[in-house]
Amino acid sequence: MSNAMHPHAFHLGRHLRLDDNPLLAHAAQTQDSLLPVFALDSSVQRSPHQEAFLLASLADMQSSLRALGSDLLLVHEAPPDNVRDRYNEPPRMIDDALLPFDIAAMPHTYTPFRQRVEAAGVRTSPPIDPVTSLPPLPDGVVCPTIIVPDVPMIAQGGERAARAHWQQYRDRRLPDSYKQTRNGLLGWDYSSKLSPWLTWGCISPRRIATDLAAYEVQYGANDGTYWLWFELMWRDFFALRGEHRTRDHHDVDRTDAYWQMMATASTGNSFVDAGLRELNATGFLGNRMRQIVASYCMYERNIPWQVGEAFFAMTLIDYDPASNVGNWTYIAGSGADPRGGRRFSVEKQREMYDADGAYTRTWSAQR
Ligand SMILES: Cc1cc2nc3c(=O)[nH]c(=O)nc-3n(C[C@H](O)[C@H](O)[C@H](O)COP(=O)(O)OP(=O)(O)OC[C@H]3O[C@@H](n4cnc5c(N)ncnc54)[C@H](O)[C@@H]3O)c2cc1C
Repeated sequence: MSNAMHPHAFHLGRHLRLDDNPLLAHAAQTQDSLLPVFALDSSVQRSPHQEAFLLASLADMQSSLRALGSDLLLVHEAPPDNVRDRYNEPPRMIDDALLPFDIAAMPHTYTPFRQRVEAAGVRTSPPIDPVTSLPPLPDGVVCPTIIVPDVPMIAQGGERAARAHWQQYRDRRLPDSYKQTRNGLLGWDYSSKLSPWLTWGCISPRRIATDLAAYEVQYGANDGTYWLWFELMWRDFFALRGEHRTRDHHDVDRTDAYWQMMATASTGNSFVDAGLRELNATGFLGNRMRQIVASYCMYERNIPWQVGEAFFAMTLIDYDPASNVGNWTYIAGSGADPRGGRRFSVEKQREMYDADGAYTRTWSAQR
């Protein structure tokens, strides 16, 4: 029997935190013995940045679990079918019970979806307290220490880093200016950068939304704090739409010219190539640049959205199956976009967001 199928195995999936972790809290209360497990499927290709962020998040979780007398076993195999959802479904901000509609009948596009939720007065489901005690490991199980590869990273994985990052973001009052800065391209502070931690569940969206509400009480609500919530709602929206559940990446040829164009940042447009270089060099790209890259690749270079989506899935440190597919199909016009697709004028975008060429120069220099 593989360790992933051990009778006491508890698969953490995308919930690498002690705080607000209802599945772990329930297991802690109901099991006599528990083996926390993460199944890292070695057949899935990941960029070095993506793998390093995930392993750092796992190592941090392992250290938290060890502090409670438990541990974390990393197994290099696919998750068993009965827990696959835990690895594919992003934790949401608003649970099913608080949604003002049946999921099967939810609005197909974002604006009516959000309006229905807002009209019901719902901002988030409440988080639960952190897990503070755990049952012992099964006898005889040894969990090797998880090693984090030495890859230069823009953000460190793990619950501790997530909490510290979110705290400093609020302490510096950055939510207040979020709406004005969120389309930035260069720098760290133009957007919250919460996505890598949200993706692996190092912090829960319910905790973020609850902290954001407390921030509004303390400092006052404004369009920045509202817009941060508004963007987090997009994440819930794509998770609920569930386009990722029917998507797999086996149909994508990673040797063809389309894939190579993205992997070598050689679309022929210097602005777009700068974006692809940033992505390849860091595993991250701001939302505006993701939109520009996706639109250009699809509409000007005829790259099928499935190829772009698979490339992002392998590369992004914040790769989230639902948000990635949802955004690619949105721009392609086959998803939730009421306008039937987003073909941007890249030159207009360049004028608006990189008029002085600083972004293009920064990433053109990094070959
Ligand atoms: C083609 C394309 C692919 C994308 N793939 C992913 C992905 O794999 N994983 C991912 O987390 N996001 C994805 N996004 C959405 C968005 O670009 C990132 O969430 C955002 O850039 C992350 O940076 P941030 O945390 O600073 O975001 P902020 O602007 O600070 O937003 C706060 C949070 O709101 C959520 N959010 C913001 N915009 C979106 C959006 N358009 N869709 C869904 N959630 C959103 C994220 O959780 C984000 O962390 C994609 C967007 C595009 C256009």
